[in-house]
Amino acid sequence: MNGLLCRSCGATFPMNDPRWRCDCGGLLGVRFRARFDKEKILRRKATMWRYREALPVDDDAHVVSFDEGMTPMILADLGPGTLLLKLEQLFPTGSYKDRGASVLISKAKEMGVARVVEDSSGNAGCAIAAYAARAGIECEILVPDSTSPGKLAQILLYGAALRRIPGSREDTANAALAAAEGTYYASHSWNPFFFQGTKTFAYEVWEQLGFRAPDALLLPAGNGTLLIGSYIGFRELKESGLVDRIPRHIAVQAQDCAPLLAMFRDNLGAVPAIETRETIAEGVAIAAPVRGKEIVDIVRETGGVVLAVSDEEVESALVLLGRKGLYVEPTSALPVAAFLKFPGVRSGTVVAPLTGHGLKATEKMQKIASKQRVPIE
Ligand SMILES: *Cc1c(COP(=O)(O)O)cnc(C)c1O
Ligand SMILES: [Zn+2]
Repeated sequence: MNGLLCRSCGATFPMNDPRWRCDCGGLLGVRFRARFDKEKILRRKATMWRYREALPVDDDAHVVSFDEGMTPMILADLGPGTLLLKLEQLFPTGSYKDRGASVLISKAKEMGVARVVEDSSGNAGCAIAAYAARAGIECEILVPDSTSPGKLAQILLYGAALRRIPGSREDTANAALAAAEGTYYASHSWNPFFFQGTKTFAYEVWEQLGFRAPDALLLPAGNGTLLIGSYIGFRELKESGLVDRIPRHIAVQAQDCAPLLAMFRDNLGAVPAIETRETIAEGVAIAAPVRGKEIVDIVRETGGVVLAVSDEEVESALVLLGRKGLYVEPTSALPVAAFLKFPGVRSGTVVAPLTGHGLKATEKMQKIASKQRVPIE
């Protein structure tokens, strides 16, 4: 039966119950039988909504979309190994978070939600604000004080109410939890419908590889919105008999904020409290990911691994990507840095996303660029 399922106590709720967690406080998942009709898929427009029968929105009239998705996937040409880069920075708001926002806000519209709140280090806030604007849903976004100014401007231009919270990313998350007491929480970590959007990443990779799964995926991971979504997508393809295995899901973290690495390496059952330092990979600077166990379980189940790279390695990868004509924000360079650093991940066909556009983080990009030697006549 379709519906929402608590991952802690097993309680179930109707699909259109506007709740984002269980009464026991547990995280929810979506139970939904995804269907795939290749002929229909190929006949439709090249957007993530071409997999319509796999997306849990009942009525087409509720779909909130900019015809996003079906991002290009290109060969990286970065030396040994086969790395395919999926250009997820090309989404309407400049990051793959639009996948999650499109399905989540469509679902909110379907449930008659008038107002949403979300907290974010930037990109998820941009995506939720844009789709809420398109849907005519009121929106409040909470961000840490340190968020890149470009992302703040973007959220404001979309017409969302913006609250800047002093302190850490976790302080912002706590403020959002309080705000969510009376409002629908459009959280990219808590709300299970976000992952029903990010799962389309897997469908597109499958289609673009000629209806095949790659051997491995290299995914930046903080809250795991892309990693968990990708796993759900490939699991559904496998359950439908369309791929014979789920690819290895390899999580890449920033060395200065790597709770998932500690959990994986030390074989822990929960996310440990860790020391963190500031990192240029602001998109994955999550010290306490609420779905940490789910992420590490996926890595283990698919035969993957959790890796970490330093800010210096991220910068080098970023510069190298620039030299190949690809301008992405620092967090997006994590998988490429890992591909260059760890020869063990280079076997078979490996797919990595470029998650966010370089224009999002101009201040950081300027700093990196200014270290490059500019010849003077
Ligand atoms: C959100 C984001 C990530 C990682 O997402 P998580 O959900 O935290 O794992 C990576 N890169 C960019 C640019 C992002 O915005
Ligand atoms: Zn529960």
